[in-house]
Amino acid sequence: MRSTLRKLLIAAVQTDTVAKLVDGTWRTRCLHCRSALYISDEGVTSNGATLEHIIPQSWFEKRAAADLIGDLTGPDDVRNLALACPRCNQGKGLNHDKAGPSNQRAREVVQSLFAKRQARYNTPDAV
Ligand SMILES: [Zn+2]
Repeated sequence: MRSTLRKLLIAAVQTDTVAKLVDGTWRTRCLHCRSALYISDEGVTSNGATLEHIIPQSWFEKRAAADLIGDLTGPDDVRNLALACPRCNQGKGLNHDKAGPSNQRAREVVQSLFAKRQARYNTPDAV
């Protein structure tokens, strides 16, 4: 796993109010289905946890997504990152990323996930 990805995984888990660090392992839950996910304090996942970009990376180039993006600095802004189980991350990728921000249903799904993430968001300073 690349170290950039590890850093993003750690940033996501450190700002997740659901995550708890126990004996060097972060325990958190999939943003979608709440199944348990584990990640070492060095950013190594042990049961297939994946990094999810809630607003898909490809949407950041699309004008129709501007209102969703708001003041996010880019796809890797920590507020846009979450941990997801592989099954959910793949499912979302297939169904919504490609549909694009002009698709009403895709927008609703992304907006609802983004709201869920913000509800679980802890500022880095508070960790
Ligand atoms: Zn899941």
